Amino acid sequence: MGTDPRPVVVVIEDEPKIRRFVCMALESADLQAFEADSVKRGLIEAGTRQADLVVLDLGLPDGDGKAFIRELRTWSAIPVIVLSARTQESEKVAALDAGADDYLVKPFGAAELLARVRAQLRRAAPRDGTPGVMSFGRLRADFGRRLIERDGVPVHLTPIEFRLLACLASHPDTVLTHRHLALTVWGPGHAEDVHYVRVHMAQLRKKIEDDPSRPRHLLTESGVGYRFCPR
Ligand code: CA
Repeated sequence: MGTDPRPVVVVIEDEPKIRRFVCMALESADLQAFEADSVKRGLIEAGTRQADLVVLDLGLPDGDGKAFIRELRTWSAIPVIVLSARTQESEKVAALDAGADDYLVKPFGAAELLARVRAQLRRAAPRDGTPGVMSFGRLRADFGRRLIERDGVPVHLTPIEFRLLACLASHPDTVLTHRHLALTVWGPGHAEDVHYVRVHMAQLRKKIEDDPSRPRHLLTESGVGYRFCPR
């Protein structure tokens, strides 16, 4: 995990034939596809796989797609493309109102699916604000290639540390709460795991800061969270 640069798509569909069809189409287009067959499993996959996009069937055995989207939107802005049957027209609109970005009506072809997926990934890139290459202090961070260098020497970050840094650096000079960071980095179900954030922040500072006890870039907002200062 964390080294494959291909965009990650989580496919949530309970019908195995359609799920496989979608996953194979995505993989043929050099995207990573992870499968889920329920709302519950889909939320876990979307959080732990660090998904870039979700393809979501609206009729799932343990709930409808809207419930998934409402939950996802509490911690993530990644694009969601819903798959609807013709009998679900009103559900589709409700899903868009709930925060889905686009839809496909079954049956659909691989070319149509991939065109929608590419469009959403393109649109999402600037929106989520993850910077490409950024220099601060003695560091240079290439977030797209997951390379962090200090005075030209590669710094090894764990996937968690990388995500923590990328999350903060994509919102420079902005306070991010412990809860926001826990949800973004660890995923749903971890909103209260503030101690994880503190522990990994301490490790990240040791690798990034000249003086970890007096950080210059990863600043503490006492009782609230952290703020990234790029200067
Ligand atoms: Ca279904």
